[in-house]
Amino acid sequence: MIDDIKSQFSIFSQKSPPIFLDSGASSLTPSVVIDAITDYYQNFSVNIHRGLYELSEKATIMCENSRKKVASFIHADSQEIIFTPGTTLGLNMLAQMLSSKVTAGDNIVISIAEHHANILPWQKIAKQVGAELRFIKLTDAFQLDMQHAATIIDSKTKIVSITGMSNVMGTIPDCKAIGKLAHTVGAYMIIDAAQSIAHQKTDVKNLDCDFLVFGAHKMYGPTGVGVLYGKKEILDTLEPVFVGGDIVSMVTEQHAEWVGAPYKFETGTPPIAGIIAMSAAINFIESIGWKYIQKHEEELNEYAITRLQQIKGLAIIGPNRFAGRGANYAFTIEGLHTHDIADMLAKQNIAVRAGSHCAMPLSIALNINGTTRASCGIYTTKQDIDALCLGLNKIIEIFKK
Ligand code: PMP
Repeated sequence: MIDDIKSQFSIFSQKSPPIFLDSGASSLTPSVVIDAITDYYQNFSVNIHRGLYELSEKATIMCENSRKKVASFIHADSQEIIFTPGTTLGLNMLAQMLSSKVTAGDNIVISIAEHHANILPWQKIAKQVGAELRFIKLTDAFQLDMQHAATIIDSKTKIVSITGMSNVMGTIPDCKAIGKLAHTVGAYMIIDAAQSIAHQKTDVKNLDCDFLVFGAHKMYGPTGVGVLYGKKEILDTLEPVFVGGDIVSMVTEQHAEWVGAPYKFETGTPPIAGIIAMSAAINFIESIGWKYIQKHEEELNEYAITRLQQIKGLAIIGPNRFAGRGANYAFTIEGLHTHDIADMLAKQNIAVRAGSHCAMPLSIALNINGTTRASCGIYTTKQDIDALCLGLNKIIEIFKK
């Protein structure tokens, strides 16, 4: 299976492909996704909505089919799928959309494990209205502290926004349980699914979240396109953040009326090729199947965590468990700087990432100066982990001298 999967990524047939352990930043792109983009630009690269001619209708239908595909992928209705330029923009939009729901003295709850994209939009809103931004702490096992969550989510909480999977530690919080706490006090529950979307099946009905945000480029799709899911009955009550063409039913000199959700949130020309190619990425994931993905990930977790722990001076910053965590392995090595490690791995053709990974409050809370992170995808093999460990041992040897 793994050879078949790898054969669908043309990058692996290059002369010296890297040992690619940076899927947490962006996954590689399979041929079917590249083909979908090429097909659009070669055969019907026209704008949607505005044309009544055949090619424009085709582009419109393809985008709407993609909306349906995304909806069924996360168990939503297509009216609940808003296309965005990506996770960061989706979260920013959402913060603006919900800003009128938060007033002075209220609070917004996130976790200390969040990416800046799920911190800064809330920090901005909190500052604007005089609300408090609260952070759920971690346990010693790098999990979200649920007792602490239950304490800080209170009657003044209006929004709870939590990562579906930490981009640093691989921690997968119990978003369903946190959502129950949020709903008990009447707060909105938001999930930043940027990382989790490619690692586990997402079911918004089962999670009972009010909003869920992700991008295509970490799930084998293109850059520049993402999704903001929102419960239809809530979307209907919210105002668009960006306004302009395509979202109005009527405009006069002083007044405009919006079309219904999700279209009122999608002004301007969307990333048409990206939207169509996102559908191809979902087809790709579904052709492999969640059962395989889950098993592959658990096997990788067991192998990687066990092997990494054997390296002297290495500390994994994340859960030691093999199931219920994502295949992102952040670590520190005693006496070595994270950037030096990543740099020396790069010289061995091993691609990882180093630093705070846009999660500075997490580094501060853990009292570490960042980590080196190896993050895996559907194509990652145990041999890739072997190469990483060999590379790390070489670096340690060099620095010992
Ligand atoms: N949230 C998480 C958990 C992420 O890992 C990332 C990307 N590293 C983002 C948000 C932001 O995603 P994007 O850069 O695609 O907007």
